[in-house]
Parts: sequence; C-alpha cells; structure tokens
Amino acid sequence: MLQDKDRIFTNLYGWEDWGLDAAKRRGVWDRTAELVALGRDRIIDEVKASGLRGRGGAGFPTGLKWSFMPKEVKDDRPHYLVINADESEPGTCKDRDILRYDPHRLIEGALVSAFAMGAHTCYIYIRGEFYNEASNIQRAIDQAYDAGLIGRNAAGSGWDFDLYLHRGAGAYICGEETALLESLEGKKGQPRNKPPFPAGAGLYGRPTTVNNVETVAVVPEILRRGGSWFGGLGRPKNSGTKLFCISGHVNQPCNVEEELGIPLRDLLDRHAGGVRGGWDNLKAVIPGGSSTPILPKAICDDVLMDFDSLKDAQSGLGTAGVIVMDRSTDVIYAIARLSYFYMHESCGQCTPCREGTGWLWRVMQRMVRGQARVEEIDMLLEVTKEIEGHTICAHGDASAWPIQGLIRHFRDEMVDRIRQYRDAAHADRPLPVAAE
Ligand code: SF4
Repeated sequence: MLQDKDRIFTNLYGWEDWGLDAAKRRGVWDRTAELVALGRDRIIDEVKASGLRGRGGAGFPTGLKWSFMPKEVKDDRPHYLVINADESEPGTCKDRDILRYDPHRLIEGALVSAFAMGAHTCYIYIRGEFYNEASNIQRAIDQAYDAGLIGRNAAGSGWDFDLYLHRGAGAYICGEETALLESLEGKKGQPRNKPPFPAGAGLYGRPTTVNNVETVAVVPEILRRGGSWFGGLGRPKNSGTKLFCISGHVNQPCNVEEELGIPLRDLLDRHAGGVRGGWDNLKAVIPGGSSTPILPKAICDDVLMDFDSLKDAQSGLGTAGVIVMDRSTDVIYAIARLSYFYMHESCGQCTPCREGTGWLWRVMQRMVRGQARVEEIDMLLEVTKEIEGHTICAHGDASAWPIQGLIRHFRDEMVDRIRQYRDAAHADRPLPVAAE
C-alpha cells in the first residue's frame, strides 16, 4: 500500500487551493532550474531508470519514447511537446482532477519534459467539455507566466518555454495522438497512418511527442527524488504510483493514487468501501477503462492491478478506470452500451471500424434481448477479430475487446438469454436472419 510520504498528487481531492502559492507549499516548482540543469540526457536517463510507462493507456516506456526525438534541434524544424488532456475514455476521470486541483504540477512537468526533448513550445489539448478544468489551467498558466516560471528564461533555467492551452470540441477520437495533432492543426480530427510517427513528423510536420497529463505531471517529482525511488514502488517493469478511478457498484466511488501492482480486491476494499453487498456480490470488473476486456469475479479475486498482470489475464490496465459491476448487472446490456459508444465515436475513415462497429452494435442489441441464434455468438466473435488489428488506429481494437471479453467469460449467460427468449413467448416466431 502506498505510504503518504510517497504520494505525488497531494491535492487530488482539492482540499487545498490549486493556485501557485499553495502549489509551492506542496513542493511544486521546488528547484525547477536545478532539474533543467541536469541536462537532456540525464533527465531522459532518469526517467528511463524510473520505469515510468505512459499513463494514457498504452503503457509505453516514457523515457524510450522521449529518446525517439531527434537529438539536434534545427531552426526550421522546431520540436513540440503536446499534452493529451482529452480524457474521454468511459470510466476515467483522473486527469480531470490533476487539471482541476494540481495544474501547476502539470505545468512544471511540461517545462522539464519539453526541455528534455528540445521543445520550446508545448500545447495542452484539453477536452472541450472540461470547461472548469480549462479555466483553472489557463489561470495557472497565467500565474506561471507572471511569476517568470514559464516564458523567457523559464524559472531561471535559461530555457525559453511557451505553453498554450487548446480546447477541443469533445470528440473521443481526438484522444488518439495523431487525430489530436490533426485537430490541433485546425483540421478534422482523424487519426493519421503511421509511420511516420510523431517523433519524426508530428505537429505541423515537426518532431513531436504526445504525452498524457499524468505522465508529464509525475516527471518533476521523479527527478527531485530520483528514478530509483519511483522505480522502487510497485512491481518490476510496472513501477511507480498510479491514479485509479473507481466507479460503479462500490460503496464509495473515488479517484485514488496507489502503487501499481496492488491487488484489485485491496484497491476496492481499502479505498472504495468495498463492493456493494460485499465481495461475494461481485460479478465482474472492467479494469482499465471501457475498452479493456471485462474480468469475472474468479479472476478479480486475486488479479494485480498493473500492466503485465492484467495483460496476462487477457485484459489491460489501460487508463486504470476501474468499473465495478455487482450481481445485479446485466453484463450483456453493459457491453452493448459500450458498443454503441464505439460506433458513435468511430471517425469513419476505415471500413472495418466504420461498418464493423455498427454491425457489432446491431447484433449486440439482439443479444441483449436474446433475439439471436446461438451460432451468432461465434459469428460476433469472428467479426471482432476481423476488426481488431485491421484499422488505422486502436479504435477498432477498442470496439472489439469488450465483446471478446464478454464472450470469453459470459458466453453461458448469452446462450441462456437466447434460450430464454426462444422458450418464452416467442417460440412460434421466426428468428431474425443473422445479417440483420
Ligand atoms: Fe477512424 Fe475507426 Fe479507423 Fe480509427 S479505426 S481511423 S476511429 S475509422
């Protein structure tokens, strides 16, 4: 269990003021110029040593990602850092609370991270619906400019650094890094084909790194306390602290910072007041935001909450948006609702996603009612496999995984639903054709 002395987000609940003076009292902006003075290579080495993996969902090693940026900065090819604050994954609300209650931690992280990548300019791309959060972060940016913490010779570091806030219009797909860059450039927010990757040709065709809010916000503390401190928390290759968002059928839904690798059951019992009706009333958990496959209670009993453990359980840590479902839940309906979401948010560029997500939703609607054939469960699974890995961005995978998890663990329930429908009032009616 994470000890208070190792906590990074000490104002996660907004109990203290979010402004500059209070942030400084919490240790933000402490010796920032000294952190910059470590130099680009040392900062990247320290972040690598910490084992920090991206907190936006993919879990890619942050230091390695930074090292993909060109070493030399050419005048006609400025480098950019872009911070992804588009947090839109259902079940996820962690970046929101950093933006609301600890914006200076993010701004300091932006300065140090941008320096490490040779970027004089950083954009924060924030979800359009985050009005209050955008207001706070803009006021915090203004405070930082007024105090000389960013701008020319930022924080006395000798590095010039400008930071801009850009509000999106609320499209989920703009959280995908290349769609975000398109949107930031003023175009329709649709993912780009990769390669080229943003480190080679990103914003305005220049070298760019896109990082999640939480990832950037923890960097100054890693540098102040040392990569080995962060690397010593959690589990090997899954180190550090993490913000978990716990929602659904728990007694006290909450956001909480914990060590990676905490058992799911401990996480829910210690911080969320336990499952509604007790642990035995648990039916399933979506462990990492809506796109990660659902896990039944039998796996939840002892699964650990980190990247590799959840991957081994055929799910994922994703954004650590933990959605808890007790035995009153109609899991087929719950997953069908997610299918609707992924259909609605498809940008429509590639056929498997554009057509497939709609197809999944239509079939899932019938599965909810049991108005299907048992053989269609395998057909549904097959269609998810045809979408997964065959699209420009991971949205296709995200639409496939919840249904794959449902079929993997709750096939019996789906079959029962179909049989109940057939055995009840509809025995004499013809079933709909499979392609309906
Ligand atoms: Fe757009 Fe879906 Fe293709 Fe992603 S996978 S580019 S969201 S159509």
